[in-house]
Amino acid sequence: MTGHRKWFSSLNPVSTKEYITFGDNGQGKVLGVGSVSLFAKLSLREVAFVRNLGFNLVSVSQLLDEEFEVHFKKGACRVLDAEETLVCSLLPFGQVFWVDLTSVSSPARCLVASPSADIWKWHRRLGHLSFDLLVRLSSMGLIRGLPKLKAEKDLVCHPCRHGKMVAASHTPVSQVMTSYPGELLHMDIVGPTWVASVSGKWYMLVVVDDFSRFSWVFFMEFKDEAFGFVRDLVLRLKNESHKAMRAIRSDNGGEFRNSRFENFCRDLGLEHQFSSPYTPPQNGVVERKNRTLVEMAQTMLDEHRTPRRFWAEAVNTACYIANRIFLRAFLWKTSYELRFGRQPTIKYLRAFGCRCFVLKKAGHLDKFESRCLDGIFLGYASSSRAFRVWILEAKQVVETLRFLLMKLCLAQPLPLSFQVMMKKAPPSLRMRKVRLMLVMQEPLHRLQLLPPLL
Ligand SMILES: [Zn+2]
Repeated sequence: MTGHRKWFSSLNPVSTKEYITFGDNGQGKVLGVGSVSLFAKLSLREVAFVRNLGFNLVSVSQLLDEEFEVHFKKGACRVLDAEETLVCSLLPFGQVFWVDLTSVSSPARCLVASPSADIWKWHRRLGHLSFDLLVRLSSMGLIRGLPKLKAEKDLVCHPCRHGKMVAASHTPVSQVMTSYPGELLHMDIVGPTWVASVSGKWYMLVVVDDFSRFSWVFFMEFKDEAFGFVRDLVLRLKNESHKAMRAIRSDNGGEFRNSRFENFCRDLGLEHQFSSPYTPPQNGVVERKNRTLVEMAQTMLDEHRTPRRFWAEAVNTACYIANRIFLRAFLWKTSYELRFGRQPTIKYLRAFGCRCFVLKKAGHLDKFESRCLDGIFLGYASSSRAFRVWILEAKQVVETLRFLLMKLCLAQPLPLSFQVMMKKAPPSLRMRKVRLMLVMQEPLHRLQLLPPLL
C-alpha cells in the first residue's frame, strides 16, 4: 500500500468504503487499487492507494504471489525473479526491511504487471501442464481453487521445451471399459533409472485404476518389491469400496509372473491378465501414464535445476497433480472426483523445487542463531495434506501440515504500530495483507525429521 499516486501505472477506484488505521489511531481512506512498477523487473498488482499514508509498504507474501523469491539473511534481504536474477536488495532498518526507491525511473517507462502472470503461475504449479489444457480446465469449473485463465498467444516455457512434454501423451481411448473405480488395475515397472533416488531407489511401480485413471506410484530398490506394494494397495482398495475388484493387468515380466502373485490373486478371486510380450499397447493405459509422469517430473526438475536424485519426489508430485487435474475421457471428471466423489481442490499447490523456509521455534534459539531452515519444496505427503521439504542443512525431509512455504520469516516482531494498523484494516485488505504477520511458527521439536522415503 502507498500514499503516492505517482507510483501507479494503473489505478481503479474501490466501490466500498475501506479505511486503514495507522499506529497513532489516525485513519486513511483507501482511494483505489492498482498496479505499481517499482523497477523494470518488479511490478506489483492489487496495491492499495491510501490517503495520507506516509510510507510505501510491501507485503512479502504479495511478492511471493507474484512469483518472486525472497531470501532473508541476518542483515540482508534479496528479491529474485523466477530466473533467480536479482531484482533488488533490502536492508534492515530497525525492525523492518527497507529499499531505496529514489533511483527508480519514472513509472511511465516501467513495465506493467503482465496479465499472463496467473497462467504462468498455474502452469508451474500444475507440473507444467500445457497452456491449452490449462485454459480449457479453468473454464470447466471442475477443480476448486483454479481461477479462470485467459488463453494467450506465443507463450514459450523453456523447461517444457527441454522436458519435451507433449499433450499427445494423453491419447483418448475409444470407450470406457470398466464401470467403477477399483474394478481393474493396470500396473507396470519403470527402471532402472540413471541415478538412484535420495533414498537409493532405482525403480518405480506405477498402478493405474482403469475406470478413474487414478494412479499410484511406489519406489523400489529392487523389482521384486512390487508384490508387497500391489498386495497392500489391493487390500486397501478392497476395504475402501463395497464393489468387488475384478482383475489386475500387467506385462509378462518376472516380477509379475510368479507364484506370489498367482497365489494372491487366486485367494482374492482376482483375474491376472497379461499383455502379450510383443504388443505393448495392450498395456497402453499404464505406459501412457508412465510417460506423462516422467515427462512432468523431468520438466519440474529442470525448472529449478533440482538435482536428479530427487527424481522420485518429482514423479510423486507429478502423480499427485495428475490425479487432480487430468480429466477422464468421456466421463469429463477428474480422476480424483471419480474415485472420491468430490471435486479436488488445488489452491495450496506450489511449484516443485522452489526454495522455501521452515521456521524454528523462537524460544529455543540462541540470540544469533538463524530463525529459519532453508529448504527445497518437494511436493505433498501422500497420507495427509502436508508439504514435503528437503532441509538443506540437515539433508533430510520434513513433512508438516503447518509448514510455511515461501513466506516471510521475520526474525523480529513487527513494530506495534504496524500490527495495530493491520488489525484494524478492513477485512478485504486484512485478508490480503495480514499474511505478512501470520508467520506460523512450527516448533522444531514438532517437525518430524524423516529419512528420505522416495
Ligand atoms: Zn512449462
